Amino acid sequence: GEPLLTIRDLHVDYFDQAEPVHAVRGVDLTLRRGETLGVVGESGCGKSTLITAVTRLERPPAVTTAGSVLFHGREGAEPVDLLRLTERELNKLRWEHIAVVFQSAMNALNPVLRISTQFADVLGRHRGLSRRDAERRAAELLAMVGIPEDRLRAWPHELSGGMRQRATIALALACEPDLVVMDEPTTAVDVVMQRQILRQIARLKRRLGFSVVFITHDLSLLIEIADRIAVMYAGQVVETGPARQLYTDPRHPYTAALRSAFPPVRGPRREIVGIPGSPPGLRTPPTGCGFHPRCPRAFEPCATTAPALLALGTAPSAGEVACHLHPGPTPAANARQDSAR
Ligand code: SF4
Ligand code: MG
Repeated sequence: GEPLLTIRDLHVDYFDQAEPVHAVRGVDLTLRRGETLGVVGESGCGKSTLITAVTRLERPPAVTTAGSVLFHGREGAEPVDLLRLTERELNKLRWEHIAVVFQSAMNALNPVLRISTQFADVLGRHRGLSRRDAERRAAELLAMVGIPEDRLRAWPHELSGGMRQRATIALALACEPDLVVMDEPTTAVDVVMQRQILRQIARLKRRLGFSVVFITHDLSLLIEIADRIAVMYAGQVVETGPARQLYTDPRHPYTAALRSAFPPVRGPRREIVGIPGSPPGLRTPPTGCGFHPRCPRAFEPCATTAPALLALGTAPSAGEVACHLHPGPTPAANARQDSAR
């Protein structure tokens, strides 16, 4: 499909001490229209930093030092670089085109306003709806996420955790955005509620046709919801691919390690193997491949030469991997054909 969001060579640094922390180090990533793109990695891998930079919600000491983020918006519209927009231009895009549901979504509702007032504010400001029309629309939106209409007059603290999160998602969808960015939106609820919320997001997406960037540390959760997955490590994308393929046939040793750490929700039980060690500090990132200090398959070039992110094939759906075990599409493809013969 057509791209909706194109991230090019994005760099984000934290300038909280003399030596900056390079939290995002040259990320290239494309979200296609109608797609759910999962971004996965341990905490400290740069995925939240990436997404706050992309949505221009980063706060000091984080600074986006280079790159572009092209948002293509409605079909046929000229793309705009989100990094070059003024605060005023951004405010027009927010809610109407781009909505965010952040980590601990449960806190995203204003605790001193009734649910109905929060919907009326957003729909009044961005859609010009009267209070009464906004409440009618809010009731519809809440019904879509399984919240009864009588909860419209409730205060946030009167809702359960799961309900607050679903209300936050409904609010994000109020203006029918093209893109919904979700950062760990289900971490604070139990597994049953998590599954229910994921199912609802998938259903809403089919109905309303928005695209999703979904961030989590849990790879197994992404095969339930994502079309494509990007794996981040030490501030870089190390592998991308169709969700199922990336999960069943991971090429990057870090992806394989994540898979062992998060076995599938369904299917046969496997032994859970944690990933030894922890992500590197990014004030002085490791030389060569960022994963080499933890990689069970590290070999000669890994500590000195950084592997480039290379396509695994020529099809548009082909994944990409940055690892010296996969030096490029041609030799790997030949090897597979040879062994099949
Ligand atoms: Fe491991 Fe080397 Fe591949 Fe990095 S490049 S993931 S260290 S094998
Ligand atoms: Mg995070």
